[in-house]
Amino acid sequence: MNLPLVGLKDERSMIRVGDTIIGAREIVLMAGPCAVESGEQMRAAAQGVKAAGGKILRGGVYKPRTSPYSFQGLGEEGIDYLREAAAEYGLLTVTEVMDERSLDVLVDKVDILQVGSRNMQNFHLLKLLGEIRNPVILKRGLAATVEEWLSAAEYILSGGNAQVILCERGIRTFEPSTRNTLDLSAVSLVKVLSHLPVIVDPSHAAGRVDIIPALAKAAVAVGADGLLIEVHPHPEEAQSDGMQSLTPEQFSRLAAELRPIAQSVGRSMAHPQEV
Ligand code: PEP
Ligand code: MN
Repeated sequence: MNLPLVGLKDERSMIRVGDTIIGAREIVLMAGPCAVESGEQMRAAAQGVKAAGGKILRGGVYKPRTSPYSFQGLGEEGIDYLREAAAEYGLLTVTEVMDERSLDVLVDKVDILQVGSRNMQNFHLLKLLGEIRNPVILKRGLAATVEEWLSAAEYILSGGNAQVILCERGIRTFEPSTRNTLDLSAVSLVKVLSHLPVIVDPSHAAGRVDIIPALAKAAVAVGADGLLIEVHPHPEEAQSDGMQSLTPEQFSRLAAELRPIAQSVGRSMAHPQEV
């Protein structure tokens, strides 16, 4: 593998966003709905994320949907709902960037930009992300090898942006009973191949709520530096990915259950917050 910038170094990278550090001792929780739908929905989600000790609020405003007839996201209107809810609860923001146009809109408005699985090898976008200074969450492609994933990260670093966080979100296999297969081997493998922090999204891997807590715990046990989890105040009403969205209560319970797992591998978890 030709990975001069992404390859393992003497020191692991820590990515600082506001006063949160990804890749330090504390496991960072990032959560929120798949898609931003309203101001009210985002406030309820933000409250739940904050209460559980989460640091970063997620919510897609440009949604890459399989069908053109599915909800495509609120676009610019949604960015305001994401930002206002995050500001109200003292959270940072992450949302998916799709292309040059959405990058222009988002670059000064959100803290972290997410490259979705379907765009992991959009090399034009990766080059543009090398030119900015926002941290980037690079999701592994649906059928990307570890080498392809790390090479995609190399594009961003070689463009000049060293703030890359890798995210394993499940890969496509022959197994249809989960939405994707969470590749926990890859999580531990990239930690020995690269100095970049690695987070896990158990929501898109599972595609169902009931096994998300178990996958999240396993992710922490194998060395993930953080978790990206879909949380919706009313999953049954969600415009996208409701079947894999935890309620704020389920998310708080999970955060508490993660604490002993984190401690057992020498990591820590933020404390729940009064909101
Ligand atoms: C998402 O985070 O909602 C999303 C679309 O994720 P992925 O790119 O992993 O499918
Ligand atoms: Mn989703």
